[in-house]
Amino acid sequence: MELEKFKELHARFFGKELPEAVTASEEYDAYIEAIHDDEACYNWATAEKLKAKGFDFESYCCLMLADKVYQSLDEEGEIKYDDPDVIINKWDEGLYGIPIHDGGASMVVINYCPWCGHKLSK
Ligand SMILES: [Zn+2]
Repeated sequence: MELEKFKELHARFFGKELPEAVTASEEYDAYIEAIHDDEACYNWATAEKLKAKGFDFESYCCLMLADKVYQSLDEEGEIKYDDPDVIINKWDEGLYGIPIHDGGASMVVINYCPWCGHKLSK
């Protein structure tokens, strides 16, 4: 999908309570598909979301990592240790890890971004 077209659909659909007539439409389907399959659309929509939340996504190697780190934090910016949806953690020391959901705070430290392969140096 053209990014311009996507932006137009995003303005109409994002963050709104949509009637079923809309969510069942081909346009809406195409919009949802573009978020998942079109990298340019995904990156733009994710950057918009993180910008709106005041999250410093530009310090990350890619938007995928920025978004997953954002999702790992609660409203106070603290790591959510007991949320099974959290797939990556970032610590203040610049360490990244994959949490092990065993009820504790254990994790596997990773040195490369799982999405873009960038070295996650301190
Ligand atoms: Zn990355």
